[in-house]
Amino acid sequence: MYFGALYKECSFHLFLSLEKSYNTRIIVERRFMKSPKVGFVSLGCPKALVDSERILTQLKTEGYDVASDYEGADLVVVNTCGFIESAVQESLDAIGEAMSANGRVIVTGCLEGCNHRCTFCIIPSMRGDLVSRPVGSVLNEAQALKKAGVKEVLVISQDTSAYGVDTKYKLDFWNGQPVKTKFYDMCEALGQLGIWVRLHYVYPYPHVDAVIDLMAQGKILPYLDIPFQHASPRILKLMKRPAHSENTLERLKLWREKCPELVIRSTFVVGFPGETEEDFQMLLDWLQEAKLDRVGCFTYSPVEGATANDLPDHVPEEIKQQRYERFMEVQQAISAEKLQSRIGQTMTVLVDDLEEEFPVAVARSYADAPEIDGNVFVEDIDKSVIKAGDLLEVEITDADEYDLFAKLIRVKSA
Ligand code: SF4
Repeated sequence: MYFGALYKECSFHLFLSLEKSYNTRIIVERRFMKSPKVGFVSLGCPKALVDSERILTQLKTEGYDVASDYEGADLVVVNTCGFIESAVQESLDAIGEAMSANGRVIVTGCLEGCNHRCTFCIIPSMRGDLVSRPVGSVLNEAQALKKAGVKEVLVISQDTSAYGVDTKYKLDFWNGQPVKTKFYDMCEALGQLGIWVRLHYVYPYPHVDAVIDLMAQGKILPYLDIPFQHASPRILKLMKRPAHSENTLERLKLWREKCPELVIRSTFVVGFPGETEEDFQMLLDWLQEAKLDRVGCFTYSPVEGATANDLPDHVPEEIKQQRYERFMEVQQAISAEKLQSRIGQTMTVLVDDLEEEFPVAVARSYADAPEIDGNVFVEDIDKSVIKAGDLLEVEITDADEYDLFAKLIRVKSA
């Protein structure tokens, strides 16, 4: 949960869907005439975080201050998720807390769209199809963020690889140059900014191959967040997942040949209706072969209104849990081995924060997305010369299951 703290970050998310009008702004303007303070609670996935950042940016642009606690706020905005069952409970708790601590609460939520119709998801039925922002607007925002000192942008949408499809790759202009509203063209232009560019929610379509070339050339970070969700073709078909007929292992092999440093994070669902032991074993075998770097796993839980609820052969909770544990055991060994292999390597890391009590910088390398992956803890530093936003060259000295530990070689850029 974030409470009015989003501006501490030196990373920023770029959202590819068209900007919606925010009722929040209008309501806040009507209630307060002078420098009102808005408390902000952000819940849910990184896409909801993007919305929070955009709402906060808009509020700050219009002269509102951000309060650091409920008591100091004239009003509290809770931006939340109504999709995932656990998030619904978290949302209700947060709304209840804000109501009792402050009493003036605006609740807002999911502003995304998507062209797919995955059977476990209700986002398209709530939000409709994906609507791409013009590429000039995305690039101008990224450029402004760079000017404001942001060192890393995270590109996010429900399907980043589908960017521009709805506009038929319409031509737009940026810095006087023509640029197509298209996945590759946007990545290439972002790569010219000289800051870290990290892609989330990309699917393994053939046209992504060209973007891997940009990664191999060092233009954008060699990092991809691909929500594979499963590996059994039968389950992927039942899920109606994008790119479900692609040979993903072949594609990963090709990408790694082009760009050996490529780091891949993904999420999976186990216990989807109809998943047999054979399907699950196929997933474990796939995982062993794919050797992904970072992986999250969820047990399937029905979402009200999702068509998957009507599928036959729901998996008993106990089996779902067992499969989750078996999955995590396999993946944790792979992730740990991958992190261990980093020991002795020299890496560039971006400092997010300094430990209060210890001479340690909390940083990340290209392999770690903020708030999602692990950290690189740079030890024995002089806190008077290092600050958040610095890029450091470090040597990795140790690793545990999720994080790396390092010693400073030099400050690359402050
Ligand atoms: S890709 Fe599937 S899971 Fe993701 S938002 Fe679209 S429909 Fe939902």
